[in-house]
Amino acid sequence: MNPVETHGLAAVEQEIVRACKEARRERASVTLIAVSKTFEAEAILPVLAAGQRVFGENRVQEAKAKWPALRDAHPGTELHLIGPLQSNKAKEAVALFDAIHSVDRESLCEALGKALPACGRAVELFVQINTGEEPQKAGVAPQDADAFIAACRERYGLPIAGLMCIPPVDEAPAPHFALTAKIAKRNGLPKLSMGMSADFATAIEFGATHVRVGSAIFGHR
Ligand SMILES: *Cc1c(COP(=O)(O)O)cnc(C)c1O
Repeated sequence: MNPVETHGLAAVEQEIVRACKEARRERASVTLIAVSKTFEAEAILPVLAAGQRVFGENRVQEAKAKWPALRDAHPGTELHLIGPLQSNKAKEAVALFDAIHSVDRESLCEALGKALPACGRAVELFVQINTGEEPQKAGVAPQDADAFIAACRERYGLPIAGLMCIPPVDEAPAPHFALTAKIAKRNGLPKLSMGMSADFATAIEFGATHVRVGSAIFGHR
């Protein structure tokens, strides 16, 4: 392994350790998801060689093309879907991913409710909250979150593990992280997928259990 190729990963790890210390949290309470979307195997291999085992992709087809071979060669690798999922790809998604961070519509819940028992694998599910109420962005509106989470559980039998958010690019992220944490808490959800390259330390301060970091590890896309 060439240390130069993984200095991004090392720097992110250092920053996670620092943020955990400051928030008086255990390092083990935060999972780093290395977001490898758009990067080819040759860019991913050094990060795997450095010991990173949790990766995020935003498209089913891209992940399907890249990951089966990488995964066979690196046992224990976990793959998370962090991008939008079409209902007609639910079956493929649950066969490939260990976690889905973008549950946000009842039609998708219905598809997952059928696909999950059939696939026989455990897949961790996160409901995406559109905290900025941006019309172009996926996710459930904050005021609809409680009812949606209840429907996931009761109507579709989906065990929801936590919430995910992507704050608007032009706003301070902290209020969005705080709102997501508040909705999770009142719904008894222990996991929070929040924080990207620019703001993962802030997300850790607000209780993130999963940070999704791409460019700070792999470079610009
Ligand atoms: C691309 C992406 C990330 C990673 O973004 P960076 O700014 O490169 O760290 C995180 N979350 C989601 C949902 C993404 O699509």
